[in-house]
Amino acid sequence: MKKLLAALGEEKGHVRFVGGAVRDILLGLEVADVDCAVVHSPDTVIERLEQAGIKAVPTGIDHGTVTAVSNGTVVEVTTLRSDVSTDGRRATVAYTSDWKEDAARRDFTFNALYADPRTGELFDYFGGQEDLEARRVRFIGDAWRRIAEDHLRILRFFRFHARFGEGLPDAEGLDACTKRANDLMALSRERVADELLKLLGLPAPGDTVELMVERGIFRPVLPEVANVTALRELLEFERRASLAPSPLRRLAALLPADPEVGRDIAARLKFSRQQRHHLASILDPASGDARAMAYRDGKEIAIDRIALTPAWSGDREKSIAQIRDWDMPQLPIKGGQLIERGVPKGPEVATILRAIEKDWIEADFPDGPAFEAIVEKRVG
Ligand code: ATP
Ligand code: MG
Repeated sequence: MKKLLAALGEEKGHVRFVGGAVRDILLGLEVADVDCAVVHSPDTVIERLEQAGIKAVPTGIDHGTVTAVSNGTVVEVTTLRSDVSTDGRRATVAYTSDWKEDAARRDFTFNALYADPRTGELFDYFGGQEDLEARRVRFIGDAWRRIAEDHLRILRFFRFHARFGEGLPDAEGLDACTKRANDLMALSRERVADELLKLLGLPAPGDTVELMVERGIFRPVLPEVANVTALRELLEFERRASLAPSPLRRLAALLPADPEVGRDIAARLKFSRQQRHHLASILDPASGDARAMAYRDGKEIAIDRIALTPAWSGDREKSIAQIRDWDMPQLPIKGGQLIERGVPKGPEVATILRAIEKDWIEADFPDGPAFEAIVEKRVG
């Protein structure tokens, strides 16, 4: 990091930490990714980093961002910029040498705090520190206009509120987000999905999601979302059962238990094949034996389905622990062995194998004589 800062002109005050890193340090939280703002053009940034032997990838060159990796830390280096014009989806940017201009194009006051890496001096152009202390997400400038510039800020507003906010969100921001909720339809589905999953992956998104439902924020993009009670039940259960937060599981809790709905939403939000399969599978209400379900669908899907079924016939926590610790067995017989035992080669082998597997699952995966009895029944 030292080398990187030196290369970017730390000594001359040409580079500052900004955004999430500064905010999280002020809150005493761990910092994952570091954002830096610099006065140099992206080309100069790349040149200087490469001269210093630091790998620089132009990840977002349209908006002036170069990603550097320094001793395993990912640092996003963005040239000071002002947003000239936007259509609500993307901005046309111009570079500037004015720090306050760069601050003014950012979304919320506490995301526009800068720190000088040499001295730690804080630059706070819009009262971000005060808002951070008050745990208040506040748009820089006029909320209505800022959302018109970039509609994704609606979802970012709620995400940051769920993460840092206390009590009700800032009234002006909430009002603008509510009235402009239909703007979300103009955004690319990927960006919407990405923000929503980030929100749902937070430690405690319950209150915020409830507020969003009340305010009709999901309606334009996810009208199926309704069941906040089920989400709350799930969050409470995750805590009890020490289940790691899972955005997809939490999304599923908000939806009607119907795999078709899952497939539909996954297609709409451009989920990956794997996400689509997972969402559809966990929206199929859980039934029957936990281990049988884990064997058929995999442990993760089985665990999520049980977590999502408050009416589960047994003790949900126990069932999940049982699945977790289970050494999933393999069917103790193969096609070749059936042929040795007199089954004629051909499609019948697979049919019999499947029948044996079914009996074996139903009998809770026995081996030894109990398994042999199952085979004998089918082969004779
Ligand atoms: P996180 O910890 O979630 O990464 P972050 O504040 O670093 O939080 P990023 O999405 O990484 O959030 O963005 C970095 C910074 O860029 C923000 O702090 C904010 O200043 C600015 N920013 C990001 N997205 C927007 C946006 N849509 N509109 C305005 N400013 C934005
Ligand atoms: Mg960040």
